[in-house]
Amino acid sequence: MKVPVALALLVLAASASLATGCESETSPVVPVPSDSGGGTDGSLASDGGGTDGTTPPADGGDAGAEAATDGGVVQVQILAFNDFHGNLRPPSPTNSAVLVKAGDPAIDDAGSPQPTEAGTGDAGGTNYVVHAGGAAYFAAHISALRAKNPNTLVVSAGDMTGAAPLVSNLYDDEPTIRVMNQIGIDLHAVGNHEFDHGPATVLRYQSGGCDYTNRTDAGFGSCEADPTFPGALFEYLAANVDTNVVGDAGPPAGEPVKTLFPPYAVRTIGGARIAFIGLTLSQTSPYSPTGIVGLTFADEVQTTNALVAQLKGTVDAIVVLVHQGGFQSGTYNDCVNLTGPITAIADGIDPIVAAIHSAHTHVGYSCVRGGRPLTQAASYGRLISQIQLTIDTTAHKVLSAAATNVVVTRDIRPDPIVDALVSRYAADVAPVAEAHVGQISADILNATGSNGEAPIGDVIADGLLAYSAAQGHPADVALINIGGIRDSLFYAPYYAEAPGDITYEKAQAVQPFGDVVEVMQCLGSDIVAAVQQNVFVQAGGGTKVLQVSNGFSYAWASSSAGAGGTNAADPASFMIGGAALDPTATYNVVTVDFLQGGGDGYTAFAKCKNPIKLGVDLNALTSYLTANESPPLGPPPANRIIKTN
Ligand SMILES: [Zn+2]
Repeated sequence: MKVPVALALLVLAASASLATGCESETSPVVPVPSDSGGGTDGSLASDGGGTDGTTPPADGGDAGAEAATDGGVVQVQILAFNDFHGNLRPPSPTNSAVLVKAGDPAIDDAGSPQPTEAGTGDAGGTNYVVHAGGAAYFAAHISALRAKNPNTLVVSAGDMTGAAPLVSNLYDDEPTIRVMNQIGIDLHAVGNHEFDHGPATVLRYQSGGCDYTNRTDAGFGSCEADPTFPGALFEYLAANVDTNVVGDAGPPAGEPVKTLFPPYAVRTIGGARIAFIGLTLSQTSPYSPTGIVGLTFADEVQTTNALVAQLKGTVDAIVVLVHQGGFQSGTYNDCVNLTGPITAIADGIDPIVAAIHSAHTHVGYSCVRGGRPLTQAASYGRLISQIQLTIDTTAHKVLSAAATNVVVTRDIRPDPIVDALVSRYAADVAPVAEAHVGQISADILNATGSNGEAPIGDVIADGLLAYSAAQGHPADVALINIGGIRDSLFYAPYYAEAPGDITYEKAQAVQPFGDVVEVMQCLGSDIVAAVQQNVFVQAGGGTKVLQVSNGFSYAWASSSAGAGGTNAADPASFMIGGAALDPTATYNVVTVDFLQGGGDGYTAFAKCKNPIKLGVDLNALTSYLTANESPPLGPPPANRIIKTN
């Protein structure tokens, strides 16, 4: 059913709080009668929990957005981001880098462009690195963009929290939710990292309240920074996170599919009714094997198109926020050779969807796919995707859609309120954050070579071996997933530390998950099987390869004729401690509980026996850095894994 213009304006009038600077529609429920007498928004919501912008309560913005003018044609601006991961302070040099072309305004704006740095992926040497991000700058850019159009909504596509730096992590990521409340975002689709601590935690992020079980003697944890936690003032969406579906069996007979959060939300702005469908990748389970118990992640395209079928005729535009992405070889506002899972998803989504904002791969792109914008705003608050929709609220259709990515440069006055909030949290954690744990002689980068090995991966694996031995469990080999490594160790200071000084905060940024070190007994064949579960050649380039300790090596070739087929490691090449690996011998392997539980798809570890938990992985890294600070530790050559072609 169509929504007549008069009714759309009535909805607007009723929501006097819908406003410039207002973050969420605060109108009371205004039933929108259908012209067929059929489902209202209420009945749609009851189908699967979609909402009409009435939950959760908004944060009391004021003033009203401009009504549709120009014969019912309205310009709506959607500001989208993704994978913020609690980066409240300006992220490290690696995690803040945005590669831009010569002449890009972001360079001029940034004031002091840096020449292209190593490890940024710029082969031509003609591009520049601009260091971007930081919540106060992010907030300022959001405000500046909002000022250009009162009909603005701010939306996020997953992984807002999880794998966060210390300033957020030490308080259970509650500071990130508070900062996002302050910035005033409207909607947030869940990503895989929303489930790092199980569904109860993300439900609490929405509803508020404290988790008193999650506190430390040192005064950190839930509700330690602030006595109360209000929860998100924005709305979480989870269209494909089913709570009553087991496998292929579907929901119990007679029950509709239930989702963890509403599958979509409708917002009325400038007289235009826009539905946002929010979902995570269907492959969320391997990223969070212990956090998703009881949840089923449905197919992205099928889920979206089923909702589109419901929503058609009830709204003026539909936008999809999906926590899955792709890769491309251009700079942040390009779309050069887009590959990866998002291509099939975008191509499969009903053509009526006006724009798709994607996520998860942390790559910036602004594509036009199937005639509509397909965007991703990198990660960590470095970019904002500015999506412009021209909507005819009389004909109930989108006349045009376009997008561009905006760099969150630091040449702008930081938002003073967000700045003060972040500074307070940073001061609170400073005694822990600034503690000295080691000394390095040069950057130890989280950048993999063509063999899939990163210098920081070698250091972490060696640290696991030393940690296990120090606790009376000497191991033969340490293996750690590259996806668990989130930052580099930098020689140059970027907070208040001296050059080469590694603080607890810098080490924590490398391993923020708090995984538990485990030593276990694996057959040689189990080790080979785990290595064969590497993604030696990812869609879009690059590798996703287990990082290995000193004394362990193997060889692989892309499109090799190895036993595992294309892009497999050669079983005959495996060496442990100077001897060929024996598939039938038992080896002591040290890794983390995440991998032992099948995380990142490494299910082969499940065959290993007698796992023993030893302590938090970050303690292994900091102990290793402390033990090896004199002389200062340098980057290992990262030559344990051999790519033969
Ligand atoms: Zn993700």
